Amino acid sequence: MGVWCCMSCEYEYDEEVGSTATGIVAGTDFDTLPKDWRCPVCGLSKEHFQSEDMLRGESPIELADADDEEIEF
Ligand SMILES: [Zn+2]
Repeated sequence: MGVWCCMSCEYEYDEEVGSTATGIVAGTDFDTLPKDWRCPVCGLSKEHFQSEDMLRGESPIELADADDEEIEF
């Protein structure tokens, strides 16, 4: 079970909860939602949703500056 986020309005579709607003029962996989299912908040299609797991995987990129080597005697 996972959570899918709307890229437009940040509505979250939780597979464990479903979406009562759009008649989706709890436990419905995002993949098995009807093709014409849309975000209940902003009306965008499924294509505009991203898995939260995927989003979490994107860790912020930290540019590691090469440390100036200080030579100590
Ligand atoms: Zn939305």
